[in-house]
Amino acid sequence: MKFLVDSMLGKLTRFLRIFGYDTIYANDLINFFNINPVPDELLIDYASKDNRIIITKDFPLYMRYKDKSIFLKGEGIYNYLHQLNKQFGIKFEFSFKQARCSICNSQLERVTNKISIKSDVLKETYNHFNEFYQCSNLQCKKVYWQGSHIEDIQYKLGKTLEFD
Ligand SMILES: [Zn+2]
Repeated sequence: MKFLVDSMLGKLTRFLRIFGYDTIYANDLINFFNINPVPDELLIDYASKDNRIIITKDFPLYMRYKDKSIFLKGEGIYNYLHQLNKQFGIKFEFSFKQARCSICNSQLERVTNKISIKSDVLKETYNHFNEFYQCSNLQCKKVYWQGSHIEDIQYKLGKTLEFD
């Protein structure tokens, strides 16, 4: 399942990528189309050609692409993830093997030689963790590890889904 996430939902975009979903953010298409904001018809055209589901809070956009779009209600990232899970069965199980870079949507690669990322992370992080992953996009190369951030997401998510 691939997504195109509407503007104003940048945080959701990053979460979907971290959980392994191939996700394009509407704001990232501003340069691609060289128009700001990107008009609905171009978003729909892009999503349709690339076989992507549109996730939006914009009701008119949702109505124009109803069969292949998801309309989110309310506010808040965990609320959104909850709706995606309950209404559409979209699962959020983290693993580095399937995770994508939250910044650029590229796949991650395991760092085989820890010393190669020494200058990219804090000293405590470097010393504390042994398993690191890095974005495969050479223009990005963001470094990831199984730290408190991902554990916090999993904890909150588990809690949200449990309580319904
Ligand atoms: Zn990246």
